[in-house]
Amino acid sequence: MAEVTQQTGQCACGAITFSVRAPKTYGACHCTMCRRWTGGIWMGVVCDEVSEMSGTVREWTSSRIGSRGYCGDCGSSIWHKPRHSAKYTFGQGLFDDQKGWTLTREIFADDQPSHYALADTGQKAFTAWGTLVALLTGRLPR
Ligand SMILES: [Zn+2]
Ligand SMILES: [Zn+2]
Repeated sequence: MAEVTQQTGQCACGAITFSVRAPKTYGACHCTMCRRWTGGIWMGVVCDEVSEMSGTVREWTSSRIGSRGYCGDCGSSIWHKPRHSAKYTFGQGLFDDQKGWTLTREIFADDQPSHYALADTGQKAFTAWGTLVALLTGRLPR
């Protein structure tokens, strides 16, 4: 079980800053929506608690299952929030401290284009269907 600590981060322009309680683990999502939203791979950290948030995060309902928050000034992808969960998933690249992180999961792996691959550092991969089942049964690695 990954240790949960207080961590800070910000968007690219600095208009949004935050402090959250979260583990130093994250997941990569290969789905088409995340690739379009970020221009690459979405790497997300599931946060236990959003302690502080400054600046205005604009919210976009991206699908029936969730919404996404972004900076209205610079467009940085800030968070994804599934409707069924109270927890926000913040972009890993926003965090100030980039040392000591572990990739634990790749989701929607069957949507991944063939022109890139993440190094195998022990993470588990889930297909789109496998991702949904693991989420609903609480078996998605944290
Ligand atoms: Zn910004
Ligand atoms: Zn995705």
